[in-house]
Amino acid sequence: MVRHLGLKAYGKVNLGLDVLRRREDGYHEVRMVMQTVGIYDRVDLLYREEPGITVETNLFYLPVNENNLVYKAAALLINEFGIRGGVHIRLKKMIPVAAGMAGGSSDAAAVLFGVNKMFGLGLTGRQLQERGLKIGADVPYCVMRGTALSEGVGEILTPLPPVPQCRVLIAKPGINVSTKSVYENLHVEKLGPECHPDIDGLVEAVRQKDMVRVAACMGNTLEAVTIPAHPEIAAIKEMMMETGALNALMSGSGPTVFGLYTDSRTAEAAYRRLRYGDGSRIVRQVFLTDFFNRREAND
Ligand code: ATP
Repeated sequence: MVRHLGLKAYGKVNLGLDVLRRREDGYHEVRMVMQTVGIYDRVDLLYREEPGITVETNLFYLPVNENNLVYKAAALLINEFGIRGGVHIRLKKMIPVAAGMAGGSSDAAAVLFGVNKMFGLGLTGRQLQERGLKIGADVPYCVMRGTALSEGVGEILTPLPPVPQCRVLIAKPGINVSTKSVYENLHVEKLGPECHPDIDGLVEAVRQKDMVRVAACMGNTLEAVTIPAHPEIAAIKEMMMETGALNALMSGSGPTVFGLYTDSRTAEAAYRRLRYGDGSRIVRQVFLTDFFNRREAND
């Protein structure tokens, strides 16, 4: 019995996000190129003799009951395997919340990984991914991590080779965006072809390790909904382009924007502009990080 596990739950950005159509069940069919980045939440799992799940977190506004995705993930495995002991989950958030970086999904994936290990359940990565889908569409990918093509509603995953390393500048304006409302306001049938990024081209560029082409193929259908409602997203993208980014894009349903830089000094200057310069008026959180490419380890 492992009594304590300290895990890292990494965030992601979407190098590409195409929404194909709304299915009859209300879910949207997507094609996304996902990439893990080096910003993470800390998830500590502590074994308890008495049954039950307790959660504590550094963010007062997050739920600590069954509405927290970490609780859902622990409950799913504890119930399925009739585990008699309990767990205490300590969650230290660093990934911006409701930002399009799959923070909650990644926390859930870390808990699935951790409970599997703590109680010796013997589930494979694939089996954890299947269970993760019941918690959220991005959870299977967060179990896998690294660079991947995600299709269907997020359950069809194809691992891709790592994208060449570059600096990733991540900036979140002081607004929160609900993924649900973005999809509700998306009328995919009305969008022109310019709103659908070339995901096949992007995948090919990733396979070729051609960073310039990766940057050129980046695109996100959901920008068509989120940017008109929040023009500060466009302003951040513009600033990143002015400061020498290869390209800049909104991640997921937003409002987080990320920019890719091949040169470290250029990236650091851009970071300073957003953190302390004229960008600081619209940017609430800013990080300079890298791509993260270790799969299914959660350490
Ligand atoms: P995605 O990129 O998958 O759309 P997101 O970054 O937009 O995710 P999250 O930060 O994962 O959004 O969470 C959105 C909502 O989920 C929050 O408003 C919060 O109340 C709820 N939530 C539940 N559990 C968590 C958690 N562990 N971390 C963050 N939010 C959580």
